[in-house]
Amino acid sequence: MTIPKVENTVIIGSGPAGFTAAIYAARANLKPVMFEGLQAGGIPGGQLMTTTEVENFPGFPEGITGPQLMEQMKLQAERWGTECYTEDVVEVDLTQRPFTIRSTEREVQAHSIIIATGATAKRLGLPSEKTYWNNGISACAICDGAAPIFVGEDLVVIGGGDSAAEEAVYLTKYGSHVHLLVRKGEMRASKAMQDRVLANPKITVHWHTEAVDVFGEKGLMTGIKVRNKQTGVETNIAAKGLFYAIGHNPNTSLFKGQLELDAVGYIKVQPGTVATSISGIYAAGDVQDHEYRQAITAAGTGCMAALSAERYLSEHNLITEYSQEVVTEKEVVTETKTPEATENTFDINATRHYGGYALRKLFHESDRILMVKYVSPTCGPCRTLKPILDKVVAE
Ligand code: NDP
Repeated sequence: MTIPKVENTVIIGSGPAGFTAAIYAARANLKPVMFEGLQAGGIPGGQLMTTTEVENFPGFPEGITGPQLMEQMKLQAERWGTECYTEDVVEVDLTQRPFTIRSTEREVQAHSIIIATGATAKRLGLPSEKTYWNNGISACAICDGAAPIFVGEDLVVIGGGDSAAEEAVYLTKYGSHVHLLVRKGEMRASKAMQDRVLANPKITVHWHTEAVDVFGEKGLMTGIKVRNKQTGVETNIAAKGLFYAIGHNPNTSLFKGQLELDAVGYIKVQPGTVATSISGIYAAGDVQDHEYRQAITAAGTGCMAALSAERYLSEHNLITEYSQEVVTEKEVVTETKTPEATENTFDINATRHYGGYALRKLFHESDRILMVKYVSPTCGPCRTLKPILDKVVAE
């Protein structure tokens, strides 16, 4: 009987926290396995995959797009031997050691787990939200506030908590005026934050006010229709930006009942660490951080999680070391490349084909529907679509 392989560490989630954990764990010769996710929690790569320019991640003086940053992190993780699966984890069993992690495609056992499943910013679901998402509407003022479309314009923030207060104040640096829509007659934000909002002449608070819809021109948002909840009166506010600050939902449904979560659902960690209620399981990034929620803080806790996992494995004599040859970035890209079909290898009845020869033959000789998949190695959204298209073809 063969004994099933037990991994040193499995990382769930592929945002900055997950990839940083992967880089550190891989460089410690742990050969981590990463479940990048597919649809759960948004898209692989986390919230940065839907962010445009990231201007505050150190090391990129000219800024970098969210997908590009995640692409770079992924290449670095793979370069050191991380095994990545673009699959959703659907179940975990943390009641027995080794732990079991089940994805849509496979079951893996591991001595330690790093949870980096992130959090999803809540949206209002306004009728025209999809049309103006990233073209006026954003869920992160700190990430997007300085974008040229918002500079010198009237902006709107929705929410009454600390995030809303902080974002409203922050946006006054860029916008000409900020309207804060609060659905009640009071704010939930701390007194100090409320004072900063109320004392700022560039902020107008609209109490008892909810958003009805947004409108725009030529694909860009130009205003928001709001309703006073006490009077029912609807008015328009002209604004080029709308920022949701109505809270986040941590992606922790997999762990409910197995790990200690706080009242909102964030994973509880021991203060100043990334240790969860079960030894050998660590939580990094937004899944355990409702306060800072920045790519760089997520990366920092990802690093802490990998170092903690390594220490745990070492203390319990559980490490299987994988010595590795460093592969260059170029090799990582070419490593997975399937050889192109030639006159000798082309089979018209096969489902998948690679290269120009096969494309020409199929175009002229096959009566089946062709789907042509072209993926640029530097395109984040392409990378996201690729496994989805692969699944469609497989099905
Ligand atoms: P919160 O959950 O604290 O606040 C969410 C706000 O959004 C509430 O005012 C809520 O209104 C409002 N809201 C929720 N749903 C809707 C809706 N459908 N329409 C309109 N308004 C809505 O989230 P935050 O992100 O502000 O804060 C999360 C945590 O992070 C908190 O503990 C906070 O203290 C902390 N934090 C601390 C900061 C700091 O100290 N500098 C900065 C940022 C966050 P209502 O009040 O009516 O329920």
